[in-house]
Amino acid sequence: MVDIKSKREIELMKEACKVTALAHEAIKRAIKPGISTLELDKIAEKTIRENGGIPAQKGYPSGEKEIPNFPASICTSINDEVIHGIPSDKVILKQGDIISIDLVSYKNGFNGDAARTYAVGEITTNAKKLIDITKQAFFEGIKFAKVGNRIGDICHAIGEFATKNGYSVVKEFQGHGIGRNMHEEPGIPNYGKAGKGIRLEKGMTLAIEPMIIEGKPEIVILEDGWTIVTQDRSLAAHYENTILITEKEPEILTII
Ligand code: MG
Repeated sequence: MVDIKSKREIELMKEACKVTALAHEAIKRAIKPGISTLELDKIAEKTIRENGGIPAQKGYPSGEKEIPNFPASICTSINDEVIHGIPSDKVILKQGDIISIDLVSYKNGFNGDAARTYAVGEITTNAKKLIDITKQAFFEGIKFAKVGNRIGDICHAIGEFATKNGYSVVKEFQGHGIGRNMHEEPGIPNYGKAGKGIRLEKGMTLAIEPMIIEGKPEIVILEDGWTIVTQDRSLAAHYENTILITEKEPEILTII
């Protein structure tokens, strides 16, 4: 069942999404060579809490007994790391790195989810292109995010755009509905068939999140049980916003 949010619920959820946007702005300002990913985590947590939110990823269940719950407020994934990297005082950003930050704020009983890949100082042309295409893939996808279209229309547009540009899409992880829960129905893969899947309705709130790899699509999970890296160690980028389906253009709730 896809949850349809009421006007009141949407107003409450917008505040959660705004906190997420503010935390990203604070991170963006702080990113530079020499800063640790744990420092970024602290900046994000402080911003979220100062704005009345809670970092929703902190303590997120791994679902497996032997893997601890997610220990931090944000995911920090550098270069060949795709998603779910764990912040650490031992991981220091270097000139030329790219870093994907995924963060979810919880406020008013609702979640706001957004991810960005940031450049650390000057980066290569290839890295910049990967970041740009990943962001553009999101915007290609949401051209189809309106009442009456189907979820597959979005998935197809993202996948086509990424592969047409010579990149691979991650198939094991996907976007999702979002609201009172971080992950709700429907699942939104970054590939698929146009015209397939559920029909979009006004009041649906979705987290659309292209995860794009420069090389081959295969991924592996590191020993920490969380960090996903590309198998061929090529670069990966991530771009995500929480959006609201309306009769016209979708509203992007995590950009302010
Ligand atoms: Mg996210």
